Amino acid sequence: MEFRGFFRRMTALAMAVLLVFSTVYAQEKNVGETKPEKAKYVFLFIGDGMGLAHVFLTEAYLAQKDGKISNTPLGFAKFPVMGVATTYSASNIITCSSAAATALASGYKANNGTVGIYPADSIPLTQISYKLKELGYKIGIMTSVTIDHATPAGFYAHSKKRGNYFEIAMQLPESGFDFFGGGGFQGTRDKERKDAAEQIYNKVSEYGYTVALGVDEYKAKKSGAGKIILLQDGKKRRDSSLRPVIGRKDGELTLAQVVGSAIDFLYEPDGKGFFIMCEGGQIDWEAHSNNAPGVITETIDFDKAISVAYEFYKQHPEETLIVVTADHETGGLALGREKGYTFDLTVFNDAINGTATEEKNAQNYLTKEVIDTLNKKARIGWSTKSHTGIPVPVFAIGAGSRMFAGQIDNTDIPKNIMKAMDATPLYTDHYYKRKAVFDMDSPITENDIVFLGNSLTEGGKWETYFPDVQKALQKKGGAIRNRGIVGDTFGGIDARLDQILPGHPKKIFFLTGANDVSHNLTADSIANGIINVVRRIKKESPNTKIYLQSLLPINESFKRYRLLTGKTAMFSEINAKLEKMAKEEKVTFINLYPLMLTNGPADLALPASEQVLRPEITRDGLHITQEGYKIWADAIRKYVK
Ligand SMILES: [Zn+2]
Repeated sequence: MEFRGFFRRMTALAMAVLLVFSTVYAQEKNVGETKPEKAKYVFLFIGDGMGLAHVFLTEAYLAQKDGKISNTPLGFAKFPVMGVATTYSASNIITCSSAAATALASGYKANNGTVGIYPADSIPLTQISYKLKELGYKIGIMTSVTIDHATPAGFYAHSKKRGNYFEIAMQLPESGFDFFGGGGFQGTRDKERKDAAEQIYNKVSEYGYTVALGVDEYKAKKSGAGKIILLQDGKKRRDSSLRPVIGRKDGELTLAQVVGSAIDFLYEPDGKGFFIMCEGGQIDWEAHSNNAPGVITETIDFDKAISVAYEFYKQHPEETLIVVTADHETGGLALGREKGYTFDLTVFNDAINGTATEEKNAQNYLTKEVIDTLNKKARIGWSTKSHTGIPVPVFAIGAGSRMFAGQIDNTDIPKNIMKAMDATPLYTDHYYKRKAVFDMDSPITENDIVFLGNSLTEGGKWETYFPDVQKALQKKGGAIRNRGIVGDTFGGIDARLDQILPGHPKKIFFLTGANDVSHNLTADSIANGIINVVRRIKKESPNTKIYLQSLLPINESFKRYRLLTGKTAMFSEINAKLEKMAKEEKVTFINLYPLMLTNGPADLALPASEQVLRPEITRDGLHITQEGYKIWADAIRKYVK
């Protein structure tokens, strides 16, 4: 692949300098007209298990093969922006692929072994693929392994167990995404169901998907297809992973062909744009086997798939973003072993070229023993047959790519993609700004009382409602601290608990939920999500007294919040669940809800859908006036001390 000469690796420092200059430049440009950078076509490439060592091993091999002590850069490694992403999951420093895929797809950390669900019970997360589809972007999900495997599943499925392939496969057509490609469904081999394949493929066609086996069939069928699934030719291979490079036969489907077909299918000159997630899934598998030649060939193959996207980028440089990263590192791969400085990757030549195998096929040749001998000869070290917890590299080019420089977290990747696409962010701008203010503020301490929640909490002037308490706290160096953020949800609050819990505050008054209702979650999901925050506070700061406050009622007659239409009754339903769960968690529950109803607690006799926020204490049917805050403050006064 050809790259423009000026692309080169940049250190984080150089990037920072560039950022400063470009900000100034942008400001000057703003005086006249300015064309903001906006990504319309986005590629997220995930090299499963591909750590920096895997990339450099491949580059060093390519150089040594030509007799050079150097590195022959892979195409994506020449992208101008480079960063590193931390990969830990909600449950482990060493993540699994499904938890990492969930983070990369949704911006939330998940537990190892789960796909697309929030750590509390089974609350489904909304992946950016769904958000972007809603906004009119075309969506393509592809991989070199099966499409119900962990990484692709992270972008369309929700399951407590990544190994529930059948369940995950059955969710794929429900996504309505436009293009899927790679190996077919592992779920067809479900042991409990003889007709698993039939059920999956029936559902696929019921939901309007055309299945094309091989590129030729894709070309023949694409014009009549609304949504398409591109798999391998031949019924035998249909539901297997794409053939690994070592052992691949001529004419067998490659990841590069899948990406090419996806672009062909999803690109419309006057369309809204597309989001493509493409996984190089077999780098991980080879690394699990500590198979260095396999890692090298699969990484090169992955680079070939990325080069197809790069060709597209060259046609649409202003509107395309390509991000290449990994979900985690696999193998603890090291360039060097035991003692000394010799290092010779040419011992892999025969294995990689397939010339080691006259009679046997190449894959059979690479037995455990042969692999081990080759690793020793080359002097490659492996510390594990599993994953490691080291951060992974991020390479980026195009619109918005600068956001991927420096050290980031894997959850930043989908957030940055949304920002680059100028789409509804996972969190609001206000959220990021206020969170940044909290970061710069003095840290929370044991002498603080924290008010935690959404706009209702943010809108309160808590220190003025309890002046004596504030004075008493200040004597000890503490204070009443407002940690409310407009628009926040239980997920957003969970994501910023690390600003609060390490300080072990004296008390936390917590209220959230209205924004979650507007996001179309069920009452169960919302109550579970809120209680999960409570559980985390208990676990990470056991001496903090927690006061869980009920949701306030709303009043739809103000017609201000379209997304809350018809949801009045949900508020009392959620509160009932919270009250019960708070009791189970042995946490004080403060029921503010009846106090804010039109006629106070007397209105509890009405049907839930008629229990509304008193019109005199609200201007929009959701938020409350100072008079409302007075009722609230009085209700909690005995606890705030
Ligand atoms: Zn793995």
